Amino acid sequence: MKLRTQIALSLVLVSLVSAASVGGIAYWMLMRDFKQSVLDDAFSRFRDDVAAYIDAYGSWQQAVQSEPFPRFVEYRNRPLPGMTEGPHSSLREDSYFQRRATAPFMFLLLDTQGVVMKPAEGYAIGQSAPELLDDAFPISLRGEVVAKAVPLGDPNLSPQDESYLRAMRQALLTGMSVAVLIALLLARMFMRRMSKGVGRLMVAVRQMRQQGKLQEPIPVRRNDEIGALSEAFNHMSADLAKAHDKLRELSIRDPLTQLYNRRHFVEQASQLFEQAARYDHPLTFLLADLDHFKRINDQFSHSVGDEVLRQVGQLFTKNLRKSDVIARYGGEEFVVAFAETSLAQAWQRCETLRLAIENHPWHEIHPELKVTLSGGLCGALTLGSVKRMLHQADTNLYRAKKLGRNCIERSPQEVDSVA
Ligand code: GH3
Ligand code: MG
Ligand code: MG
Repeated sequence: MKLRTQIALSLVLVSLVSAASVGGIAYWMLMRDFKQSVLDDAFSRFRDDVAAYIDAYGSWQQAVQSEPFPRFVEYRNRPLPGMTEGPHSSLREDSYFQRRATAPFMFLLLDTQGVVMKPAEGYAIGQSAPELLDDAFPISLRGEVVAKAVPLGDPNLSPQDESYLRAMRQALLTGMSVAVLIALLLARMFMRRMSKGVGRLMVAVRQMRQQGKLQEPIPVRRNDEIGALSEAFNHMSADLAKAHDKLRELSIRDPLTQLYNRRHFVEQASQLFEQAARYDHPLTFLLADLDHFKRINDQFSHSVGDEVLRQVGQLFTKNLRKSDVIARYGGEEFVVAFAETSLAQAWQRCETLRLAIENHPWHEIHPELKVTLSGGLCGALTLGSVKRMLHQADTNLYRAKKLGRNCIERSPQEVDSVA
């Protein structure tokens, strides 16, 4: 499953669970408080009725013998004569007992010793139930507790109570739905924002995998983990690109002379040859070899030989142009591709190079050290390939060696054709 979907699902789940628990708790509290207020209200009326009943007849026993309690209550709560009309009548009619078909609560009445005075739900008159005294509400008359009332069972809610509760339930449900809707909208907004960051990272990862490097760094616009990841990814890809460049440089360079190696030269030379042949531009190759290098090694040591190779490499770079491709071809052999350069021009530059090598202060390495270079040139594109041109240059190099070394040779027919 996509990360985006996983997060979206968790957000939806969290918003549903929180809305449901907030709604559930609110509903439970509402019901509890509502029942409590019904109980308080019912008790306060019952208490007043019982107190008035006892007060009217002196004691509960005398009262019961004189008039049944329900009748007393009915008379007590009846509208006063002359009050059936007018503003007060509506006040009476709206009273708690008037609004209800049945009393909201049944109360069991005990005396202060816990003996049942008024029966209810399984308790008979005269029965002793002291265990109920702890939860009983005291009823006082002129500062003295005369009885105790115990509420029994659940309240009988009036139709008005029920419709009030229905309205509250409806309001709660609407509130919860709105909360869920807002949570979902916010989750969507949050997801979009987050998936943008993750999306950019994914594109970058794909680019790294396919192309080995980033075209451009991921924009870091956030101060969170995704921002930190993007920044780390940018650093990593930059380091990787640097390492990649370094590795590539190492793979195309000769470690001793820092000139290009033979493999890279062959690649470059092929491209130069293609272009020169296609556009009929001049291109000349030099194959050069240090003279009597074996003797240098033997006479002065291998490490002197290495130092000579290093310094000859520098002389090549210093005396030739940036556009010339210079490489170490093998042991003490060098090769150069002179782009856009005729045989005569190349010969001039090779002569300069040859003299620079001959006249270099080799005595600084060893008083008796002398180094010279022989070379063979070829600019005959008509030979048709780099391989054949280099072979021709090698033939000319061989001739330079034969002629006594420390010179640059060209094919006589090439020289004649130019002349
Ligand atoms: P010639 O003038 O005919 O070219 O004679 P040469 O002695 O230069 O030719 P040869 O091919 O007989 O010897 C080349 C020597 O170069 C042999 C080899 O030990 C030495 N050589 C090749 N690579 C290196 C290197 O990296 N360092 C050192 N010090 N010597 C090397
Ligand atoms: Mg050689
Ligand atoms: Mg040699």
